Amino acid sequence: MPLYVYECTACSKRFEFFQHYTDDPITVCPDCQTPTLRKVWQPVTVHYKGNGFYVTDKKAAQT
Ligand SMILES: [Zn+2]
Repeated sequence: MPLYVYECTACSKRFEFFQHYTDDPITVCPDCQTPTLRKVWQPVTVHYKGNGFYVTDKKAAQT
C-alpha cells in the first residue's frame, strides 16, 4: 500500500497515510479539522507500523 504525505496549509503539520490507489484523497486535517490538507509529493522513509495512519511529528504538542 503506498504511503502518501499530506500537509495542512492551515496548521502546517504533516501527516502520513497508507492508502490504496482507489481511495479518495484525504482533505480534512486530523489535527485542526479544517479541509485544508494537500498532498506532498516527496520521497519518504517508511517506518511501517501497521495499518491506518499515524502522526510522525509534533504529537507531543497535544499534551
Ligand atoms: Zn491542520
